Amino acid sequence: MPAKNFSDGEMVMGRWPGSHLYYEVQVTGYNKSTQLYAVKYKDGTELNLKESDVKPLNYFRTKKTPSRSSSRQRSRSRSHSPARTQTPKRSTSRGRETKKRVQKEEVQKEELPAVKPVHWENITNSKTTYVSDNKEEKEENNTKNIYRVVEHKTRREIVTDQLGLPYNLRARKEEGKHIELERKDACLRVKKQSLQTPEREFGGRVGAFFMIFLLPVTLILLLLMCAEDNASILSFPPPIPALQTLWSSTALGIFVLWFLFQALLYLLPIGKVVEGVPLANGKTLKYRINAFYAFLLCAAALGAALYNEVNLSYIYDNLLQLAIAAMVFSLLLSIYLYVRSWRVPADELAPGGNSGSFVYDFFIGRELNPRIKNFDLKYFCELRPGLMGWVVINLGLLFAEMSVQGRDIPSLAMILVNSFQLLYVLDALWNEAAILTTMDIVHDGFGYMLTFGDLVWVPFAYSLQAFYLVNHPNELSWPVALAIIALNTVGYIVFRGANSQKNAFRRNPHDPKLAHLKTIPTATGKSLLVSGWWGFVRHPNYLGDLIMALAWSLPCGFTHILPYFYVIYFTCLLIHREARDEHQCRKKYGVAWNQYCQQVRYRIFPYIY
Ligand code: NDP
Repeated sequence: MPAKNFSDGEMVMGRWPGSHLYYEVQVTGYNKSTQLYAVKYKDGTELNLKESDVKPLNYFRTKKTPSRSSSRQRSRSRSHSPARTQTPKRSTSRGRETKKRVQKEEVQKEELPAVKPVHWENITNSKTTYVSDNKEEKEENNTKNIYRVVEHKTRREIVTDQLGLPYNLRARKEEGKHIELERKDACLRVKKQSLQTPEREFGGRVGAFFMIFLLPVTLILLLLMCAEDNASILSFPPPIPALQTLWSSTALGIFVLWFLFQALLYLLPIGKVVEGVPLANGKTLKYRINAFYAFLLCAAALGAALYNEVNLSYIYDNLLQLAIAAMVFSLLLSIYLYVRSWRVPADELAPGGNSGSFVYDFFIGRELNPRIKNFDLKYFCELRPGLMGWVVINLGLLFAEMSVQGRDIPSLAMILVNSFQLLYVLDALWNEAAILTTMDIVHDGFGYMLTFGDLVWVPFAYSLQAFYLVNHPNELSWPVALAIIALNTVGYIVFRGANSQKNAFRRNPHDPKLAHLKTIPTATGKSLLVSGWWGFVRHPNYLGDLIMALAWSLPCGFTHILPYFYVIYFTCLLIHREARDEHQCRKKYGVAWNQYCQQVRYRIFPYIY
């Protein structure tokens, strides 16, 4: 293993990924296993660089020669020449190649503006003056070491985006061949780095260990408490039934059948096939969008079952057994996922799930997009068995309420809870393609955390309000019901408006419909929205989601806190998620993120952290 040549805190020159440009950076750490240096740029952004991309601070200075200006001149004219990419000499001699490269690096370090932009774009609120060739160049913001070249949709942009590198510089179109070489080089680099997890979340392996047990236990206790006449947390712990009554092979059979039925619907050749976002290994996966059709078929099958007098109250009578069956199934699936993850190439592992700790990797998920042929297990589980299962459970609880309380029609409270949550699920299924850009699909591995969340937590914990209402009736007056409907509508408008605006912007930043929105460019090439929903408050989509969560609990009245579990849990989840995302965005966008935060000061959890 090569020795570490640079110490922590040392100022060095770091290569800009995918380019030959070097900037002054500070070494902040070194990972022995990946042999990567963690470095921090002057604008605050952080990267991992391999040894060969890090040079001593004086590396370029010592190479200064009297002929520098002439070489600079030569370089500048060469860089503007379309013939540059056709230089055959480059490939004829390795020695000459290296010499030229060093010369070029020297020049590019000294002469960053030699990269001629098609269009320069300055950061909002910063005084920036760029002049190329004959004009003077001056930059007066705190990112003066980083030049942003904005050329929409050049090849380099596409290539670098595909590689998922933290930065991209858009190059001139005439650099086609050169870019292709760099693309291959970067691909190799990504593979070699084998995506070792640099930092652990959720309290590392200790946190992961406890979560594996804590999540199922919490859910079981919640369901037991909710089934009690006095659903008060003061009567904790609830009576625990005999262990053998908790297990039901029929419940497991029903769950497996449900899973297979959903899998069958997923495989139907209906609905369009779309591409996901390019992954860090350069691959792009295809996904079939047919969840909404699957829901319609499911609804038809359910209608037929009800017509034939199938008793959905089974769900209420065996909710705990069904939940435990789902837990067993998700545990077995997680074990399968963990075992198979050892057979896939390193570049198909999730960047966050390859820490080397069995417990942590099992919990967080090792493989990014496990597939059996074209069957994408994570994508399938994210929306279908769990979300549609949630709707079916809610419906079963609605029938149970009628039967337990001797009603001819369900209560207004139950109708509201069912309708609000049905709207939420339908919205997710209708916008199925939007999931392809989420953290879950692009970043997180598929392990216990997601299998449990998708198959157990969502359907069984999110239906707690409906479960509560079966044994704890709450009569709502129409004015109160209308006020709750208004609250849910406001939440939905904010949630959908914010998510759709960001999705549309990420899909096509030049969409004429979004032309009125103000943006901040970032060094990655992506921009940040600073007006519209995303200028109103940071993470407006979380705010909308939270407002809806409250509207789902209010129909249950104020007698017990248990039906408010979802709002409380969801607030904690979103606080953690927002902190996680702010951290990632600050790393990704550096100074541009700080500028965004200065312009959009409001956040939904202002005093929490
Ligand atoms: P978001 O949809 O909020 O995505 C965060 C990403 O958006 C950031 O990483 C950044 O990514 C981008 N971004 C942030 N600020 C801006 C900006 N100003 N302009 C443009 N892009 C920006 O994340 P989630 O996946 O957490 O949430 C999606 C939805 O799912 C939310 O509505 C959330 O409430 C909901 N949700 C629901 C859960 C539930 O259990 N019910 C659980 C989790 C989420 P980049 O710049 O790289 O594009």
